[in-house]
Order: sequence, then C-alpha cells, then structure tokens
Amino acid sequence: MQTADVVIVGGGIVGASIAYHLTASGCRDVLIIERESALGKGSTGKSMGGVRAQFSTPVSIQMSMYSIPFYAGFEEHLGYPCDYRPQGYLFCATNDQQMAYLRTNYAQQVKMGLKDVRLLGGDEIRGMFPQLRGDDIVGGSFCSSDGFVDPYSAMIGFMTWATDHGAALWKNTAVTGLVRDADGIASVETTRGAVATRKVVDCAGAWAARVARFVGLDLPVEPLRRMLVPSEPFDEFPHTAPMIIDMSNGFHFRPEARGFLLAWNDPEETAGFKTEFDSGFVEKILTRAADRVPCFANLPVNPKRAWAGLYEMTPDHHPILGEAPGVPGFFLANGFSGHGVMHAPATGKILSDLILTGKTDLIDASLLNLARFAEGRLIHESAIL
Ligand SMILES: Cc1cc2nc3c(=O)[nH]c(=O)nc-3n(C[C@H](O)[C@H](O)[C@H](O)COP(=O)(O)OP(=O)(O)OC[C@H]3O[C@@H](n4cnc5c(N)ncnc54)[C@H](O)[C@@H]3O)c2cc1C
Repeated sequence: MQTADVVIVGGGIVGASIAYHLTASGCRDVLIIERESALGKGSTGKSMGGVRAQFSTPVSIQMSMYSIPFYAGFEEHLGYPCDYRPQGYLFCATNDQQMAYLRTNYAQQVKMGLKDVRLLGGDEIRGMFPQLRGDDIVGGSFCSSDGFVDPYSAMIGFMTWATDHGAALWKNTAVTGLVRDADGIASVETTRGAVATRKVVDCAGAWAARVARFVGLDLPVEPLRRMLVPSEPFDEFPHTAPMIIDMSNGFHFRPEARGFLLAWNDPEETAGFKTEFDSGFVEKILTRAADRVPCFANLPVNPKRAWAGLYEMTPDHHPILGEAPGVPGFFLANGFSGHGVMHAPATGKILSDLILTGKTDLIDASLLNLARFAEGRLIHESAIL
C-alpha cells in the first residue's frame, strides 16, 4: 500500500499552503489529493483575491498580519509571483453607527500592531475619490497594505514549491473514505487505491463537511454562493483605487485588468451547492454600483463573463483549525467564510506547526478549534464582505 506522513485532502490554496509550510519545515513525505483534473476548480479559482487586515477580532487580524507580509515577500521567497498589489481597502461609513464600528475596529487593529491603517473624514474620502457619490459618507477607514493577490498564482506557487521539494500531488483522485484504528487515522481510501497514513488534513473547502463525515464528525461548514461581475475596460475611475466598500449596503469593487470587479453579497442568498451564475444578479449589482459611483451607470458589462463560487461558512465566520477532538491524526483547515485566500499563508503555518509539534506561536489555536462550537466559545467576526 502507498504510504505518506501527511495526506492533504483538497488542492486549493489552503491545501497548497499547508503543503508548502510542511515541506519548508522539513516534512517532505506529503501527499495532496485533488479530485479535479486541475487545481483551483473549487473556491480558489473563483475568488476576488482581496487581502486585508481590517477585521474586528484579534485572531483574524493576527492571521492577516502574518499573511499579508508573507504575500509581499512571496516571489522573493518562493520564486513564483502572487501579484500582491497593496492598493488598500477603503471602508466608507454612511452613518455614525458604522463610523463608531470602524473606530472600534481601528483601535483593535492598532493595538495588535497594525501600522498602515488610518481613519478618514468624509471630506478626505470625497477628495480622494470625487467620482463617488459622497453626500452621505461620514468617514471611513483605510489600510494601505491591504490589497489584492492573484489567488490562482499564489496557489500554483505554493504547490509548485512543495512538489519541487518532495511533496506528491495526485489530481483526478477523490478521497472516498477514511479508515480509523485504535490509535486514530490509519489510512485514506481514494479512487486510486488506499494510502496508509497517521495524519490527514481536511482542506476540502465548501465540501469539508462531507470529508469529515467519513470519520463521523459533524462539521458546521456550509456552502454559500457568492457572485462577481467583471466590467469591460473602463477608464472613468482610477485603476490605482483600493477595494472600496459602501457600508450602506455592502457593495464593493476593485480595479481588475482594464476594468473593475463588482461584488455584493445578496442577503437573500440561501445555503447550498449552487455554482451557476444567476443573470438577475447583474441588474441588482449595477443598481447599487451606479448609486455609489454615478459614472458606473455607463459601465460596460458582459454577463457571460460573470461567475459564481462558494464561500465556506461557519456559524461565527472564523475558520476551523487544528486536530479534531476524538479523532487523533484528523486535522481541520476549513470554514474560512470568505477569507481563505487572505488567511491561507497563516493557515499553512499554523497547521504545519500543529501537525509537526502540536503547538503554534502564531495564534492561540484553541480559539479556532472545532470544540468551540460544542463549548459555546464562538467568536463572531462581523467585518465580513
Ligand atoms: C466569489 C468569491 C469571492 C471571494 N473573494 C475572496 C477574497 O476577496 N479574499 C479571500 O481571502 N477569499 C475570498 N473568497 C474565499 C476564498 O476563495 C476561499 O475561502 C478559499 O479559496 C478556500 O480555499 P480552499 O483551498 O479551502 O478551498 P477550495 O479552493 O474550494 O479547494 C478545495 C478543494 O478540495 C477538493 N475536494 C473536495 N472534496 C474532495 C474529495 N473528496 N477528494 C479530493 N478533493 C476534494 C475540491 O475539488 C477543491 O479543489 C472568495 C470566494 C468566492 C466564491
């Protein structure tokens, strides 16, 4: 039977980062198993690529404060590009309550050591972007080291580095079962035969609960559709702009190629494995786009280029990381609730630490373990997009 020290289920950016961090730490007998014929066909290839440290909870901020500098040095350290563009995230508050919320988050971010974030007045935002309808903007917050990466390039960079340094990748192979013995995980069943291993990491993204069910675990990770609409080339708004978030309704957008990428999380969306793009979404999002950016009334959009993908939601919008209670050797790295690209570097480091040494200095890992749900220790992240 084939053997591996660690088997990673899922070849998205999270599995790839864990494979990189394990091999970089000297654990080279790693096997990544991906059911698709190509990497990135899950959520990673559908992502908007935003990276930000402007969160509300200390643990989310800590994970970003590892991940964003990691992306900044990605090419230098791994030898592959990830296209990190530090154009910032600009949250625009449209009432005093939202501004108070940003102020509280700002204080937390500064306390955690974030240096690039600042609060802005309404006039400052109107001065920076006169193209915005600014009559109701009371202020905002901006972090200049937030920005974007190319998720596909980052994933390929992690995976290529890992496989160049000893890891093996099986594509076109589905994990179909997990076998336990008295000591915990004993082997993985796949469409390509069994693999003996004592350590498995569930990085199956929106499908993670299905993999966890192989060992009888009930994982609170639900798929939720998110849709993005790219524009055709458009020059009436600066391409150096940050991700701009209209807090009145959650509409946000960023420059992409010669146009813009538009996002809005429809509150009427319901959980489920829905990956088809709903053409009715175009009108909904363009209405909100033109309301905040009047020149977007002329934004050329080809609905055939729009797409949908899945967020992997947990009840408290934080990931589930670490060894599963009662199943020695079964590790979890999923439930990123829309932040899996920006938190992939930190997740790789945390999981590699936990797998190889049983502890990590990067965060207090007990905050994000699976047991928090049964024990009522949920930590709500409200700064989600
Ligand atoms: C529209 C959209 C916009 C987003 N924007 C952002 C953003 O701006 N910033 C950000 O940080 N995040 C964003 N996200 C979220 C981000 O894309 C995800 O959190 C991240 O890609 C999760 O990576 P992953 O590797 O865990 O999952 P995935 O990329 O989904 O990879 C999981 C892999 O597991 C494989 N798999 C599943 N079951 C099995 C099995 N049984 N056997 C073998 N393989 C299996 C799947 O085929 C898949 O390739 C966005 C997501 C969407 C949909």
